[in-house]
Amino acid sequence: MITTDILDIQKIRADFPILDQEINGKKLVYFDNAATTQKPTAVIDAIAHYYNFDNANIHRGIHTLAERATRDFEASREAVREFLGASSTEEIIFTSGTTQGINLVASTFGRKFIKEGDEIIVSGMEHHSNIVPWQMLCEEKGITLKVIPVTEQGELDMEAYENLLSEKVKLVAVNHVSNSLGTINPVKEIIALAHEYGAKVLIDGAQATSHFNIDVQDLDADFYAFSAHKLYGPTGMGALYGKKELLNAMPPYMGGGEMIKDVTFEKTTYNELPYKFEAGTPNIADVVALKTALEYADALGRENIAAHEDMLLSYATEQLSEIEGLRIIGQAKKKVSVLSFVIDGIHHQDIGVLLDNQGIAVRTGHHCTQPLMQRFNLLGTSRASFAVYNTIEEIDRLVAGIHRVKKMLL
Ligand code: PLP
Repeated sequence: MITTDILDIQKIRADFPILDQEINGKKLVYFDNAATTQKPTAVIDAIAHYYNFDNANIHRGIHTLAERATRDFEASREAVREFLGASSTEEIIFTSGTTQGINLVASTFGRKFIKEGDEIIVSGMEHHSNIVPWQMLCEEKGITLKVIPVTEQGELDMEAYENLLSEKVKLVAVNHVSNSLGTINPVKEIIALAHEYGAKVLIDGAQATSHFNIDVQDLDADFYAFSAHKLYGPTGMGALYGKKELLNAMPPYMGGGEMIKDVTFEKTTYNELPYKFEAGTPNIADVVALKTALEYADALGRENIAAHEDMLLSYATEQLSEIEGLRIIGQAKKKVSVLSFVIDGIHHQDIGVLLDNQGIAVRTGHHCTQPLMQRFNLLGTSRASFAVYNTIEEIDRLVAGIHRVKKMLL
């Protein structure tokens, strides 16, 4: 039985029923956590409980169920505020995930405050979600997109970043953690430098929130987006943090119910924050369950989770480095538990299929970071990413699995 000093991993595994199954006759090893984490029973139960006992539309109802649903929905907003270290729940907007959060900022802040001749900076290790919305805006408005280069180690070239900054830059959009490389980017420094030139900064926190504590005020982030499903919560929901003065100055994203104060055919006035950005009936059950997911991680202790994942990462890095012909892509000094690799002479997809035959789930391909793959002259990698419920024995299974793949194909 594997235990760290602090966490009892077998006990934690019992909270995730999905892990206890066989795939292709072998015990499942789930190493695709950067794509989405599994959900503990507490989160699954929170969704069922909401639909079994509290389901009603929120905010406008005066009956008991509507009051209960509204109370739990808004309690989740408070939990997210606390989790992100925001100063007010007015700054927390529920979204369908990181992608929607970034698109919201591009469509509202971007359309209103970024003009022809201005510049937007992204990094060379962004997910497509933090590239394409900015490209669309650039095409529409004649804005120039600039890119922070990525070093051979898989870190951002900070000197090049400083050289890209100027008064023309209105927005910098970078990820806190790279989903393909695991690199933890120096976002506090990135933000401080951008602010010297008056540029606002959006942080894509999709891969960061499951690994460490976030403090948007300490970072001084202008916007911070994340998805619940990467941190043991439900899919299709997430949140966007935005500084109150910016959100107030921005036009609404979508029009519809909930985001209005008064509607006439002559003129509609908009609701206050955060409702101005939450048109339509939201994903109430999953918002409620996000609070449960945050409480689950809190109860384990985020530092404990990080310590366990760091231990897995260093063991896996050590073990995989010894495999002949295997190259780890992304060797940043500061990394989360994401390990991308390629093997000479074997296509990444074949690795994925043959590992799946052995019950081991890894992700293969470009991981929605095609420009980053081009940077490393690759079409894709195989990626193993570890969460709190993973074990040393599972990494040993991966290592043995890779040896078997090599034997079959080389
Ligand atoms: N940004 C990063 C770094 C990601 O890893 C992901 C998902 O893999 C996203 C954005 C998009 O998240 P979602 O699909 O939940 O909107």
